[in-house]
Amino acid sequence: KPQILWLRRDLRMADNPALYHAAQAGPVIAVYVLDDERAGLHKYGGASRWWLHHSLESLANSFAQRHAKIILRCGDAVEELIKIAEETGAETIHANRHYEPWWRKAQGELKERLDLQLYDANYLLPPGAVTTGSGTPYKIYTPFAKATLEMLPPRDLLPEPETLSSPENWPASDTLKSWNLLPTNPDWASGMRDFWEVGEKAAQERLEWWEDHADDYDDARNLPSVDKTSQLSPYLHFGEISPVQVWHALKHKRSKSWKTYEKELIWRDYAQNAICQFPGYALDNYRTDFDNIVWRDPETDEAAARDLKAWQQGRTGYPIVDAGMRQLWQTGWMHNRVRMIAASLLIKHLLIDWRVGEQWFWDTLVDADYASNGANWQWVAGTGVDSNMFVRIMAPLSQSEKFDAAGYIREYVPELADLSEPYIHDPEEHGVRPSSYPAKIIAHKEGRERALAAYRDMKAQS
Ligand code: FAD
Repeated sequence: KPQILWLRRDLRMADNPALYHAAQAGPVIAVYVLDDERAGLHKYGGASRWWLHHSLESLANSFAQRHAKIILRCGDAVEELIKIAEETGAETIHANRHYEPWWRKAQGELKERLDLQLYDANYLLPPGAVTTGSGTPYKIYTPFAKATLEMLPPRDLLPEPETLSSPENWPASDTLKSWNLLPTNPDWASGMRDFWEVGEKAAQERLEWWEDHADDYDDARNLPSVDKTSQLSPYLHFGEISPVQVWHALKHKRSKSWKTYEKELIWRDYAQNAICQFPGYALDNYRTDFDNIVWRDPETDEAAARDLKAWQQGRTGYPIVDAGMRQLWQTGWMHNRVRMIAASLLIKHLLIDWRVGEQWFWDTLVDADYASNGANWQWVAGTGVDSNMFVRIMAPLSQSEKFDAAGYIREYVPELADLSEPYIHDPEEHGVRPSSYPAKIIAHKEGRERALAAYRDMKAQS
């Protein structure tokens, strides 16, 4: 009997448990369903769609080398999979477990109607597996990380299937082109094409590069001007590589840098665990007292709408933030330190709801991930499970100096490329702001005071 392989964020041949087991059980019919409805607000944004196109194209080539195909369907994932099962006589669907609330619901629905075999694939340890002595999940990162470290190593790696046998008939498939995942007019993806190679082979090459470069991570990961982080995040998001592969490739390193890097991979597991416990974590304030904070609403307030646009376009007058937002627009990726600074400016200085920023990142990041994006925005906002970060207001200009961002600013804000240090971090303050570069959207002190006043008002109401 043919076996259906339901692909989602696991677009790889190697170390793919669902593919491995499907291939052992019979001929494999791999299926990817583009289902925008189920994800609601979190249907893939523009940058993710660009990546998805290239990722599916690359995986389809790997299947073709084994005389197999990926069947593409558009619509409700559960209904499409059931149709394909009926068309082909398949009785079993193999899939790697996904934890986004819409995928958990779909997995539940499928299980009632067909034999759905689920596997753990995309995290160091299966989400939900790391619990306290009394069996409850951890809410806070630090004890979660400690318990994870005690439970590691992760599962063993699985080889890619050497051969795939074909079913008697292939069901009908859409063409990838007909999905129109790539931008046409305007074509905003040229910077992304220059920056990224998409697909499993590129992920493996980046990992090899990282094995040679990871030793400086502990010292340099906070410096946006240098290429000292792995940039594996989109590959991990789309499952072109698994964190288990990354872990096994680097485990021989006993350095401080590896320990720090391992903890970052654990942040990724942690975010997924947060989503398992609180499925709406990317949508709702965890601390419900923040439901009473009065945000400036770009839908109804013109000044807030102008500020939001300036932030999105990288024209806030804060060079490090503008460099980050322009890097995001051009490449679909932003350095982690700058993500924190840019998110903080939106939420605190501009007093705009973190969910507005979450949605912008969702649309523009190639690594946009329901769990990691939601958990990090809640963390910066101070609305999540962690200690209250709202009142810890980052000063973007001193962050820029502290983390040596001059080179980064020169690269992404060409108007400032001729400025030397320390002027480049705050050209307005030093009286050297070129006319082509905007004045600060709000002064640091004023933004800080407005945010703290809004916070005090909220507290007075709770
Ligand atoms: P490295 O420093 O090389 O880290 C290795 C891997 O660890 C990353 O690829 C990532 O998978 C994981 N990781 C590292 N830091 C974190 C973190 N704080 N939370 C979760 N996982 C982490 N990361 C995403 O993958 N998707 C997102 O949508 C996302 N949104 C973010 C939004 C905000 C406001 C902030 C502050 C951070 C966000 N991050 C997100 C986390 C982090 O910025 C990126 O994972 C990291 O910059 C990716 O670059 P890298 O692969 O070079 O990371």
